[in-house]
Amino acid sequence: MTGLLRLIPRAIMHILNAGQGEMTAHDKRQRMVSEQLRRRDIIDPQVLAAFGTVPREQFVIPTTEGRAYDDSPLPIGFGQTISQPYVVAMTVQALALHGHERVLEIGTGSGYAAAILSCLAREVHTVERIEDLAAHAAVRLERLGFHNIHVHHGDGSLGWPAAALYEAIAVAAGAPRPPQSLLDQLTIGGRMVLPTGEVDDQRLVRITRRDEHTFVEEDLGDVRFVPLVGVEGWPEQIPVR
Ligand code: SAM
Repeated sequence: MTGLLRLIPRAIMHILNAGQGEMTAHDKRQRMVSEQLRRRDIIDPQVLAAFGTVPREQFVIPTTEGRAYDDSPLPIGFGQTISQPYVVAMTVQALALHGHERVLEIGTGSGYAAAILSCLAREVHTVERIEDLAAHAAVRLERLGFHNIHVHHGDGSLGWPAAALYEAIAVAAGAPRPPQSLLDQLTIGGRMVLPTGEVDDQRLVRITRRDEHTFVEEDLGDVRFVPLVGVEGWPEQIPVR
């Protein structure tokens, strides 16, 4: 009887908490969509739906799981980050995907942006230079059921010629200038969104390939990404200015 009495308050508390308890990951994800994306300038319904579906908490390291839906980048190990949701959304929205595209992403990191892209395109190839990150992302994406993503380990500043051409390319690391290899791997009419400029001060630009030799560049705003390290990016030891 004494044991039962001890249990009752806990049971009542449980019932009381059920109605107003902690937000679930689903709730936090919907709040991220409405407050961080829709309230700014992300208006493409398909893009918003993808962000409302992909479980970002599965892509962050366990110690930051509680901050998975913060309006900021988060560390993922190896000195790298999972990008701020809004910046991923800006990039993806600017690619203007319709669902039939083959997309190349440079900088797999956690695999989160690749998962978002995979909801909006036919096939995604994503390249990561850090082998452990590529391996972890591949396992995570497979476990979560993202079967139209191919994760590759290599220097993405050279693109991924084996699967080229691409209707869209998203670059998740800052390059000193748009890599020629990536421009060459765009279809006519294809779009590439990439951060370009100095290591600590970049512009996000969209480049559209009009014909064999004509590329049109549009400025999407200020951003700050980790550097694209590679043959057509920055050297491993970036010179101090
Ligand atoms: N898209 C990622 C996500 O959703 O988690 C975040 C990408 S993180 C901001 C940038 C990534 O680019 C890092 O994982 C970094 O190792 C990678 N990177 C840098 N230079 C690269 C290169 N030349 N080729 C491929 N990946 C590169």
